[in-house]
Amino acid sequence: MLKYNHTKVEAKWQKIWEKKKLYKTDLDKTKNKFYCLVMFPYPSSDKLHIGHWYNFGPVDTYARYQKMLGKNVFEPIGFDAFGLPAENYAIKGGVLPKKSTIENINYIRKQLKQIGAMYDWSKEIITSDPEYYKWTQWLFLQLYKNGLAYRKKAKVNFCPSCQTVLANEQVINGLCERCDSEVIQKDLEQWFFKITEYADKLISGLDNLSWPEESKKRQKDWIGRSEGTIIKFKIDNLKLTIPVFTTRADTLFGATYIVLAPEKWQELNSKSQSKIQNYLDQTKKKTVLQRQLNKEKTGIFTRLYALNPINNEKIPVWIADYVLPDYGTGAVMCVPAHDSRDFEFAKKYKLPIKQVIVNRGLRIENSKKAFEEDGKLENSAEFSGFTSEKARQKITEKLKNMDVGDFAISYKLKDWLVSRQRYWGSPIPIIYCEKCGEVLVPEKDLPIKLPTNVDFRPHGESPLARSKEFVNVSCPKCSAKAKRETDTMDTFVCSSWYFLRYLSPKLNSGPFDHKIVNSWLPVDLYVGGKEHVNMHLLYARFVTKVLHNLKYLNFDEPFTKLIHQGVITKDSAKMSKSRGNVVIPDEFIQKYGADVLRLYLMSMGPYNEGGDWSDKGIVGMERFINKIWNFANPKSKIQMSSENINTKKQLHRTIKKVTDDLEGFKFNTAIAALIEWLNFASNKKGVVARQMLETYLILLAPFAPHFAEELWSQFGHKQSIFFEKWPTYNQNLIKEEVITIVVQINGKVRDQITVKPTDCEKEIIKLAQNTAKIKKWLAGKKIKKTIFVENRLINFVI
Ligand SMILES: [Zn+2]
Ligand SMILES: [Zn+2]
Repeated sequence: MLKYNHTKVEAKWQKIWEKKKLYKTDLDKTKNKFYCLVMFPYPSSDKLHIGHWYNFGPVDTYARYQKMLGKNVFEPIGFDAFGLPAENYAIKGGVLPKKSTIENINYIRKQLKQIGAMYDWSKEIITSDPEYYKWTQWLFLQLYKNGLAYRKKAKVNFCPSCQTVLANEQVINGLCERCDSEVIQKDLEQWFFKITEYADKLISGLDNLSWPEESKKRQKDWIGRSEGTIIKFKIDNLKLTIPVFTTRADTLFGATYIVLAPEKWQELNSKSQSKIQNYLDQTKKKTVLQRQLNKEKTGIFTRLYALNPINNEKIPVWIADYVLPDYGTGAVMCVPAHDSRDFEFAKKYKLPIKQVIVNRGLRIENSKKAFEEDGKLENSAEFSGFTSEKARQKITEKLKNMDVGDFAISYKLKDWLVSRQRYWGSPIPIIYCEKCGEVLVPEKDLPIKLPTNVDFRPHGESPLARSKEFVNVSCPKCSAKAKRETDTMDTFVCSSWYFLRYLSPKLNSGPFDHKIVNSWLPVDLYVGGKEHVNMHLLYARFVTKVLHNLKYLNFDEPFTKLIHQGVITKDSAKMSKSRGNVVIPDEFIQKYGADVLRLYLMSMGPYNEGGDWSDKGIVGMERFINKIWNFANPKSKIQMSSENINTKKQLHRTIKKVTDDLEGFKFNTAIAALIEWLNFASNKKGVVARQMLETYLILLAPFAPHFAEELWSQFGHKQSIFFEKWPTYNQNLIKEEVITIVVQINGKVRDQITVKPTDCEKEIIKLAQNTAKIKKWLAGKKIKKTIFVENRLINFVI
C-alpha cells in the first residue's frame, strides 16, 4: 500500500501555482470570460469557519471546471473589513480596530490559501483601506449630487446594545440582527439613500436573472409593491384631511371607523387629553415587535369623527398601537366585515360590522371571523352587484372625479438608512457650515481618513465627534469655520460595489476601470448565504442601477446567476460558539488535507441544502483518495496496457454524469459517480488503460486539485492538469445496453428478463427469482441448484 502524503503534496503545489502565477487572470482577454465570485468574508473573531469553507471550496471546484471548459476564469477574494464584528472584536481585546482587523486578515489569508483555490491574489481588496474607502465616499458624493442621498429627522431603529441606528433590513422581528437585543425607536437626524426611487426597477429587473425563485420572491415581497387607492377622509369640525391607503376600495361602503397610529395622532395634535396622552405614553414603552404581535389589540376613541367621502357617513376616529407609523400613511380605514384585524378590534370595542361583499352567500352576522375574499358588492349604492375587481376600479374613478381620492401604488420598502454612530466605518464626506449648510467634501480631498487618536467605544453618539482635529474644518465653499459629519457609513455601502473594484484594485484615478468593468461584468456566478437577500443583494442591485443611470456602467444588474450554499450542521444543530459545536477547518486540513475536506463537504448533500458534519464521515473520503493513489499510481503494480470495453463504457457514463452534475451544482452525486467508477475498475483486476486513468484524473481534478495535479505530474506531464480540456463522452459508448436472459425451471423455459451488462451474477439471480411467473413456479418449492450462464441463461433446479 502506498500512502498519500497530503501535507507534502498540498504545500508543494500551492507553492508552484503561486510561483507560476497560474491563477492570475489576464483581464485584457475578455473572450470566454467567467467572473466567479463568492461573498467576501469579514474578519472577526471567528476567523474562517467551516461555513466559509463550504461557501468557498465547492465554488472553486466549479470555477476550475469552468477553466477546463476553456473559460478565462477570474476568481477574486478580499475582506469586508469595516463594521461591527471587527469593531466589537477590537473592543473586547482593547486594541484599535485597525490593528486587530489587519491581524485577523493576515490569519484568514493564510487559511484561505490552504483551500488551494484559484484566487487571483494580485486583486485582493480590503474595504477598510483608505484607497478603497476613498471610493466608497466617492459613491456617496455621486448619490448626493443626484438627489439620492439626503438627511432627515426620522423615527429610526436604534439598538441599545450596539449603540447605533440600524437599517430596517437589520431588524429581524423587532430584534437587532447582530445581537438580538430589542430594537427601540428614536427620533434622530440621519442619512438615507433613496432606494425607493428604484423600487419598480428592482422588481422588474429580477425577471431576467437566473436566481433561486424563492430569493426573487423574497426581494419582491420585501419591496412590497401593492396597487390600490388613496382615499381622503375629512375630519368633522376640523380643517383636517387624513389620507388612507387601501388595496380594497371595493369595501369602502363597509368602513365603520378609522384608526390612526399613535405617532400620527401626535403629528396632528400637539396637545391631547390626559386619557389619550396616557395611551400615547404606554405605546412609547412598547417595541415594534410587541406592537406587531399584540395578541390583545388596544385602542382609544378620540371623540372625533371622519366623513366617508363616498357616502358622507360619519365614522369614529380611533387611535391604536397595532397601526405602525410607517405602515401606509399611518392611518387605516377599517372594514371589520372584511379584514380580520379590524374584525377583532370591532368585536372588542363594540364597533359596527357592516357586510358589503357577498361570497357563497355567507353572512357576517353568523360568522366568527371576517370574510376577506373578493365577491359581489351589496349595500354599496350604485356599485351594488359589481364584482370586487370592477368596483375597485369604478369606486376609485368616482373618488378621483370628486377630488377625494386617486389610484396609488404603495411600497413596503423604505429608504436605506446609511449613517451609523460607530467608529469602524467609512466617514461620510459632508461638512456643515453655518452659512452654506450641507457642503460636499470636494472629490480632490478624498479620502476623509478615520482619525486614529480617538476613544472608539460606542456611546450612542459617533465616537468621531470626540476628535476635535477631525470635527473642526474650514468650509470648502466659504472657508468659514465648519464641522464635519461624524457618523460613519453602514458597511453595506462598502460591499454594495466591491465587485467592481476587484478588477482594478489599485487604480488611483477612479473607483474602477470602465473598460474592464464593462467587459467583465455582470458577474457570471455569485455564491453566498440566503440571509443576504434583503440586504447586501438588494443594495448591490440598487447601486449598480444608479451607476448605470449615471452612465458609469453599461449593465444594470450586477449578478446574472446567484446560488445559495446550504448550511453545515453538527449533530443536526446549527453551529454556534455557545453550543460549542463549531467545526474548525484547520485541524481537519492538518489531519486529512484540503482536498479530502473539500471532497467530504461536497459529498454531504446537494450544495444548496448542505448537510450534517461528522468527524468520522471524513474518513470515507480519505479512503477514497488513498484508493486512487494506489490504483492510478504509475508506481503501483497495476498493468495499464490493455483496455476493457466495459470499464471504458463505464468511464464515459461517468464523464456524462460528472459533467451534468457539475452543471447543476450536484457535487455530491458527481463524487458518488467518481467513486463508483473506481470501484468498478478496480474490481476488473489490472486491466485499465493509462489513457482511461488520465481521463479519470482530469474529472477528479476540480474536486481534489492538489492530489490530481500530483498524480498528473507523476504520469510525466510537465504542464498543469488545469490546462487540460474537460473530457467529452462518446454517445455510442454510453448507450444503456441490455441483454436478454432466459429463465428456466428444471431446464424448461418459463420466462425471460433483461439486464445491464454491468449487473453482477447475484443481482441477476435475484431479479430472475422475483418475476411474477417465476415466483409462481417457485412458490413452496426449494431451489436445489442454480445454474448461471453469463449473458445467456439461468436455470433453477427444484
Ligand atoms: Zn445590536
Ligand atoms: Zn460655508
